[in-house]
Amino acid sequence: MPITLASVQAQDARDALAPLRQEFNLPGGVIYLDGNSLGAQPKAALARAQQVVQQEWGVGLIRSWNTAGWFELPQRLGNQLGQLVGAKDGEVVVTDTTSVNLFKVLAAALRKQRAVAPHKRVIVSERRNFPTDLYIAQGLTEQLQAHGAPAYELRLIDSPEELGHALKDDVAVLMLTHVNYQTGYMYDMAATTALAHHHGAVTVWDLAHSAGAVPVDLNGANADYAVGCTYKYLNGGPGSPAFLWVHARHQNSFWQPLSGWWGHARPFAMEPGYEAKAGISRYLCGTQPITSLAMVECGLDVFAKTSMAALRDKSLALTTLFMELVQQECAGHPLTLITPTDPARRGSQVSYEHPHGFAVVQALIARGVIPDYREPRIMRFGFTPLYTSFEDVWNAVAILKDILDNGSWDQPQFHQRGAVT
Ligand SMILES: *Cc1c(COP(=O)(O)O)cnc(C)c1O
Repeated sequence: MPITLASVQAQDARDALAPLRQEFNLPGGVIYLDGNSLGAQPKAALARAQQVVQQEWGVGLIRSWNTAGWFELPQRLGNQLGQLVGAKDGEVVVTDTTSVNLFKVLAAALRKQRAVAPHKRVIVSERRNFPTDLYIAQGLTEQLQAHGAPAYELRLIDSPEELGHALKDDVAVLMLTHVNYQTGYMYDMAATTALAHHHGAVTVWDLAHSAGAVPVDLNGANADYAVGCTYKYLNGGPGSPAFLWVHARHQNSFWQPLSGWWGHARPFAMEPGYEAKAGISRYLCGTQPITSLAMVECGLDVFAKTSMAALRDKSLALTTLFMELVQQECAGHPLTLITPTDPARRGSQVSYEHPHGFAVVQALIARGVIPDYREPRIMRFGFTPLYTSFEDVWNAVAILKDILDNGSWDQPQFHQRGAVT
C-alpha cells in the first residue's frame, strides 16, 4: 500500500514528541534537515544570551566567575550532558573543540599504552572518518616521532567489515566515529569495544553524530575515551564548545599534553610548576568562551523533557519514512542509498549519492528544504526528532521529486560553491 499524506499526518497526530518543536525558533517556510551539522536555536538561548551579556558580564563583571558559576560551567554542563551518553557525574567536561579534545584524549591514550605495551604502534581508524580526526592523529604521531618516539602507523579500514582483520595485537588505539558522518553507519559500541579490548587496544569514540541523536552508553559499553560536538544534535549554537569523556579507570593515569592552568590542581595558587588536578578537570586547558558555553545549557535543557529512547523511536520512524518515500516517489532517478537500512546500524541521518548531488542540494535549499552536501556526491539528510515532523518528511520528498523530475537543479546558480557546503 502506498504511503499517503493522510497516513503521514496520522503519524504526526500520534507523536508524543511533537510539542517539543515549540522549544525551537525555526524560520517559516523552511524544512530543516541539517541539524546534524548545525542544530536549530532553542528559544531559551536568546534570553540566556541576553542574561549573560547584559547581567553576568555587563553588571557582574569579574565577580561573575564566582557569582554566576562561570568557573564550574565545563563540569556542570558535562554532568548534564553525561546523562545523554551513559556517563557518571565527574566524567565529562564541556570545553574546547572536538579536534582539540581528540588531541588530548588520543595523546593520553597513546601515552598510557606506551607505558604498559610499548610494542603497540598502530592506530586503527576509517578512511571515511571525518577528516579532522585523521588529521589530528597524523599531527600528534608526527610530533611524537619528532621528539624521538618510534613511528606509529595509522591503519585505515575502508569499511566496517574490515575491522576484525585490522585489529591485531599491534594496535594501541581504535579511534572510530560511532556514527559515520557520510553514510550514517553506526557501530555497535559495546561489541566493538570488547573486540578492541580482546586485542589489548583501547577505544577512542567520536560521538559528533551520536550525542543527542542516538542512545549511547559509554560506561555500559566499557569504552575508554570519547569526544563529541554540542553544536550538532545538541543544539548548542554555532561553534559551541565540544565535550570530552574519560573512563574513571584512566582519568588519573596521565595528564594530557595541553597542560594549561585550568587543569592545574590549584589554578589560583599561581605556582610555576604544573600539577594536574585529580579527575576529569585535568582535561581542561585555558579560559573558556563563557558566552558560547552558556548557550549549551539551553540545548541540553530540552533533552530533559524527554528521553533518548523516545527520541530514538521517532528518529527511526522519520528515517524509515524518508527512505520509503524516496523509493516510492523518486524511483528511476540515479539515487544510491548509502545508509544502512538495518535500524540497529544507522544513526539519525539518511545519505544518498547522486551524480549531481551538489546542484540538487542547492536546488532543494532554494525551495526551503535544507539538507547538506558532502564530497563525493553525497546528499545528507539529518532528522532531528526534537523538531522534525512526519509531514516535513513528506513535503521534503515531494520537493525532491519535483526537482529531479523537472531537472530544475541544472541551472548555473546551483553549481556555484561557497566556502562551506
Ligand atoms: C563535526 C565533526 C567534528 C568537528 O570537529 P570540530 O573540531 O568541532 O570542528 C569532528 N569529528 C566528527 C566526526 C565530526 O562529525
